[in-house]
Amino acid sequence: MQNIKKVAIIGAGLGGLAVAVALRKLWCDVQVYEKAQDFRPVGGGLGLLPNGLNFLDAIEPGIVETIKNSGCEVKVSVLKNTQGETIRTNPGSRFEDKYGQPLITVWWWRLQQILASKLPSENIHLNHRCTGFEQEEDHVFIYFENGKKVSADLLIGADGINSVVREALIGDGKPRYLGSMSWRTVIKCHQELLNPGELGFVKGDQEFMYLLNVGDGHISWLYRKSSPDYTLSQDVDEVKSRLLSQLTNWGESLRSLVEATPAERILEGPICDRLPLKSWSKGRVTLLGDAAHPMAPALGQGANSTFEDAYELALCFSQASSIEEALATYEQRRIPRTELIQNRSALGETRYYATNSEPLDQQMQEQSQMTSEEYQDWVFNYKPSLELIPSSV
Ligand SMILES: Cc1cc2nc3c(=O)[nH]c(=O)nc-3n(C[C@H](O)[C@H](O)[C@H](O)COP(=O)(O)OP(=O)(O)OC[C@H]3O[C@@H](n4cnc5c(N)ncnc54)[C@H](O)[C@@H]3O)c2cc1C
Repeated sequence: MQNIKKVAIIGAGLGGLAVAVALRKLWCDVQVYEKAQDFRPVGGGLGLLPNGLNFLDAIEPGIVETIKNSGCEVKVSVLKNTQGETIRTNPGSRFEDKYGQPLITVWWWRLQQILASKLPSENIHLNHRCTGFEQEEDHVFIYFENGKKVSADLLIGADGINSVVREALIGDGKPRYLGSMSWRTVIKCHQELLNPGELGFVKGDQEFMYLLNVGDGHISWLYRKSSPDYTLSQDVDEVKSRLLSQLTNWGESLRSLVEATPAERILEGPICDRLPLKSWSKGRVTLLGDAAHPMAPALGQGANSTFEDAYELALCFSQASSIEEALATYEQRRIPRTELIQNRSALGETRYYATNSEPLDQQMQEQSQMTSEEYQDWVFNYKPSLELIPSSV
């Protein structure tokens, strides 16, 4: 597209970096602006599913191999009780057999590093907190807290669930609290709870924990508990003591995992989403990832569907003759799919804590006209339609 030379992306999270890598393939000048001062080893573990992996590979061929080497290919999932005893094991290879891609668990920070390494470092501007933008006929000005102002032909808000770009564009206020709190981290530890290639799920009463191998001897634990109260702790020590007070009846092996975690490494947060939107764009500005469709993590599709966005947005720009046409096609291709995933994820979140899950299963089925198995096939079988850059170029 002749009229898109410079693209500004707000947010160097997974979505912002993935779309930057994809758009650079179209020879655009892509600049990414991130509020963080540096890329620190933060974040929890994450499950990458067949659809997300298909789209990552279409954006950057070969990247899935690098991610596999950095994270863990799940071979077995293990259900445990809160004493750490195994109740059941299931083969994890069904993903690979059925959908052609495995389930990979990886550290959010490592994935961020892998994506960032595909961009020239001078195109990523840390310490740039976006405060707003102004659109004019043929460009958009973007403003930052550090006093800088840049202009671009296109602005992409990939700034997460509390997106400043979304607030300026749509103005739909705060996210919706879904009734549970989350605590998570990644730590290096020697423990016997989880063998290599295993993913653990610990089911308690109105609470649960995921245990993920995220590679190189690191484990990610993610604990969630139903709670009407979503106030955050005052400081890191309170975060840890609040969490340990919830685990008093849990077995030593699981408690010691939390006890061994430095307080400052534990991320505490409410589980939130937003209601689906009918439009994500105005003029030269659009949204992507959690800024566009934040969803409950129940079905593990937040990042996976974000990689779909990144590829589709670049593909729309490679095929359209105007910004309006590209963004209209992007919305047509993305909104119906992500709306369904958002709605189903919200119900899935409630299901974790329900004493009787049958009515919720029925609601999910009615909502999307799909059984659980049909839904999985629909989500995981989704594949890129074309190569971003045909191999002849
Ligand atoms: C408990 C939990 C577990 C999850 N597990 C999974 C999982 O297993 N699988 C999965 O697919 N998804 C999972 N997710 C969701 C996933 O993490 C997100 O969907 C995904 O990270 C979205 O990426 P993003 O780039 O859109 O947003 P983010 O990752 O939130 O990145 C936004 C970036 O923008 C930056 N930023 C924000 N505001 C500004 C500003 N004003 N100016 C400049 N920069 C700014 C932020 O610092 C950040 O770097 C989980 C989420 C939670 C809460």
